[in-house]
Amino acid sequence: IPPIIIIGAGQAGAQAVISLRAEGFLGPITMIGDEAYAPYQRPPLSKAYLMGKFERARLFLKSDSFYEEAGCNLILNASATAIDRAAKTVTLSDGRVLPYGQILIATGTRIRPIPCPGAELGGLFYLRSIADVDALQTAFHPGKKLVVIGGGFIGLEVAAVAAKHGLDVTVFEAMERVMARAVSKQVSDFFEGAHRAAGVKLITSTGVEGFEGEGSVSGVRAGGQLYPADLVLIGIGVLPNMEIARDAGIECKNGIVVDKFCATNDPAIFAAGDCTWHENRDGDWMRLESVQNAIDQAKHAALAMVGKPKAYNEVPWFWSDQYDLKLQIAGLTKPGDEVVLRGDPAARKFSVFHLRDGILAAVESVNQPAEYLMGRKLIGEGVKVDVARLADTSIAIKNVVA
Ligand code: FAD
Repeated sequence: IPPIIIIGAGQAGAQAVISLRAEGFLGPITMIGDEAYAPYQRPPLSKAYLMGKFERARLFLKSDSFYEEAGCNLILNASATAIDRAAKTVTLSDGRVLPYGQILIATGTRIRPIPCPGAELGGLFYLRSIADVDALQTAFHPGKKLVVIGGGFIGLEVAAVAAKHGLDVTVFEAMERVMARAVSKQVSDFFEGAHRAAGVKLITSTGVEGFEGEGSVSGVRAGGQLYPADLVLIGIGVLPNMEIARDAGIECKNGIVVDKFCATNDPAIFAAGDCTWHENRDGDWMRLESVQNAIDQAKHAALAMVGKPKAYNEVPWFWSDQYDLKLQIAGLTKPGDEVVLRGDPAARKFSVFHLRDGILAAVESVNQPAEYLMGRKLIGEGVKVDVARLADTSIAIKNVVA
């Protein structure tokens, strides 16, 4: 049986090993990872793990023995550097050339470096990997002045952990509200309030102009002013790791283009996770950075690779933990959505529902896991809901269908 090579040992890669075996693939599997670690979960990195409340061993998705038992040859500390589609081989950074029958590209993303003066100074940190947290922790001490650049999920999660840990935190967000790409104004406003109440200085509509310091950062220039800083965390987004595909002539846009079955334009090459440019169930093409998408696309890719293709049609979901607030999101919000608030933000428990043509399209819940789960189910069913009933918390969410 021709071998399968998985490029990238992360969330999607690990799921692909599990699913390929579960779906009956009996041939050799090799997974190549350029980090020093077997596949691990990234979400705790900016949450409990950074806080010191989550042991490193718990980050790993599977035990080391799992890969051996699954007959997966896991090669770490090496990157795949080229795919030769004519010879059907993958070249590794250590010079090895491996033959393949099929490939799954699960290379994820890498951080977007900040393009401003002083970006080479010490004391500037990014957060994507275990190695990044190790580096950040050398400077993450109570009383230190932390400037966070980017009020997205990672920036705000780090800000929350830092505030709790006794650092003096300032956050800059270039857009007019935090998490603007992903959540409604109601949810942005609520989280801005929560951060300010925790003592975080949150400055929106302000881009960073540069960093000052000798050797190590001592200040951040933004909005024409200089803000003192002992350390800086930069969370301004990521770039898809798609060069290996593009260089092999595989179609790429803002990610590796895949069809509903996670296949690229080469029928022997599939892709899954953060690196893909795919059409979601609402008909929009996008790249999604989420555990759900990585797991579900890996499952679908595995099905297609063993000859049991099934179209990807999952409801996207995501979460973020900041302070005692658990934000859970299902579906994708759009600017024109009709927005219905259910519950009271002042009680720190509420949901914002998004309707498109009367049909439930997305839900954002804060500290309401049951409402979120019910909402996620209704989104999957594509039901029309009654707005007045939806806004009335005395009516159970399962009874709001129009
Ligand atoms: P990854 O898990 O990034 O794995 C890709 C791997 O491939 C990496 O190890 C990379 O180094 C490696 N690689 C790249 N190129 C090569 C190559 N050429 N050869 C070999 N190896 C290569 N999602 C949520 O849903 N909820 C959250 O709360 C959440 N929090 C997050 C917090 C942080 C700090 C981060 C960084 C991410 C978070 N995410 C969260 C996103 C989630 O972790 C990702 O969506 C998920 O890891 C994507 O899985 P993946 O397999 O596509 O990529």
